[in-house]
Amino acid sequence: MVNRAWLGATALAVAFVKAQSTCEVVESQTGISMLMPLTIDYSNEQSEYWSTSCGGLKPTCILAPSTADEVAAIVSVLRNNNETFAIKSGGHNPNNWFASVNDGPLISTKNLNEVIFDPATETVRVGPGNRWDDVAAELDGTGYTVVGGRIGNVGVGGYLLGGGLSFMSTQYGWGANSILEYTLVLANASIITVSESSHPDIYMALKGGGNNFGIVTSYLLQAYPQGDVWGGNLVYDATPENTAALLEAVRVFTENYPDDKAGIIMTAERTLATLADIWVIFLYYNGPEPPSGVFEGFTAVPHSIDTTKTQSMNSLLSANNWAVIKGSVYTIGTESMPLPTGADAPEVMQSIYDHWVNVSDTVKFVPGLVASIAFQPLPKQIARLAKEKGGDMLDLDDDINRIVIELDYSFWFDSDYAKIDTTMRDTYEGFQSLVKGYQQSGSLPSDVYLPLFQNDCFYPQDYFGRLRPEKLALAKKVQADVDPNGLWRDRTGGFKIPA
Ligand SMILES: Cc1cc2nc3c(=O)[nH]c(=O)nc-3n(C[C@H](O)[C@H](O)[C@H](O)COP(=O)(O)OP(=O)(O)OC[C@H]3O[C@@H](n4cnc5c(N)ncnc54)[C@H](O)[C@@H]3O)c2cc1C
Repeated sequence: MVNRAWLGATALAVAFVKAQSTCEVVESQTGISMLMPLTIDYSNEQSEYWSTSCGGLKPTCILAPSTADEVAAIVSVLRNNNETFAIKSGGHNPNNWFASVNDGPLISTKNLNEVIFDPATETVRVGPGNRWDDVAAELDGTGYTVVGGRIGNVGVGGYLLGGGLSFMSTQYGWGANSILEYTLVLANASIITVSESSHPDIYMALKGGGNNFGIVTSYLLQAYPQGDVWGGNLVYDATPENTAALLEAVRVFTENYPDDKAGIIMTAERTLATLADIWVIFLYYNGPEPPSGVFEGFTAVPHSIDTTKTQSMNSLLSANNWAVIKGSVYTIGTESMPLPTGADAPEVMQSIYDHWVNVSDTVKFVPGLVASIAFQPLPKQIARLAKEKGGDMLDLDDDINRIVIELDYSFWFDSDYAKIDTTMRDTYEGFQSLVKGYQQSGSLPSDVYLPLFQNDCFYPQDYFGRLRPEKLALAKKVQADVDPNGLWRDRTGGFKIPA
């Protein structure tokens, strides 16, 4: 028989638990800034995602703390309930639930937006609520820069926790290699300073460990002297001749890396409805003009648009924002490959490109479909610099040059997500098979470490599983120390550490 008194007590307890939802507690007990559904501010914040699919999720409220203490106050409420929540910086990660949430609080870092340059120590304190163009604008005219995003609109918070590939990575390593200190709110709601000397294991785990260890409320970054830079875009028709020439150019550039001050992203884009296939190359040189010959492989190929010029870093990062086209659902994925160097290297590069063309053709009638692939050089010097600066979770060896392939499929309607999900997997799994095949045939070096680059991973990709076993073990140890009850592990999205 059901005990009426017990039922009454349970109802009370349920009501009590409900009353403890984070949004309600924060609203009634704190002065923390909070945005509610059906307000303009809430809608504006929800439009600050790269993918409309993330913006379509509906958080119960959006909390916008301005200090580490306010973040800690939110965490102390969260740890006493069982709500799903999300932490958002720039909102550029297109994987649903990573920085977006339905029916739970969203913690937006937008008010954690300090940028404080200290010329005496050559450091910059940067809040995770900034985008890289905010940081560049603040540093404009100081003669200094930090190692950050190549497109200004990308958020600081997620970029640095995923490692951060920069135009300056061949001079200074990954973005994460230039982080001197983190201010971190832990799952127990305490606030700690993390550096090489203070919590060194957490310091290492944060360099490519994502959102598994806490909420970062500020980064102290090493600043580097910076004058005018040179850069912009070259745009080409993707004719078979141009494609072959550019694939060879990026391969040779990665192998011989002509100048550490040079950086490129080489992307091909297909707008399949209009059958427009183009190549767009982002070029960068840390100086007013590149020495002649540095980008010759790319400039020698006939192109229709050239926007390269001498400009400030601030101007370059803002100009590159043209690439952030909103209004579509986005997916991102990646694979890593050793750089082909043998006689059949052109064939290997072409087969990667052809596989992408063939798979993307299968979804050409998906409304609004745009497919892109980027060939991103990862030469040995990035690995060398990363090690010299104390290392990181990716822990690359400098035995070989690599290429990080990045893929995007964008489309108009969420209803096509499942189809594109399969297409994305087919694309990167196909790359992996091609690479393995070429390794078996001797066209690519075998027995090489090929981790995934977290910032470009699709949600099912096994980022942690592809790390070296000792780095995975470190991540597990730090997680056990700082998140024993699984606040970050079980209740918010992101790349999770396998049990
Ligand atoms: C147009 C474009 C260009 C890009 N260019 C580059 C590039 O040049 N180099 C590169 O490395 N990557 C690049 N990326 C990838 C980008 O770095 C990742 O998508 C990154 O996650 C974006 O960071 P964000 O802060 O904008 O993301 P968000 O979507 O806000 O966050 C991403 C993840 O980080 C977590 N997170 C964010 N802030 C915090 C915090 N303060 N504490 C704890 N967890 C936090 C979130 O919970 C989420 O899981 C690019 C992406 C796009 C769309």
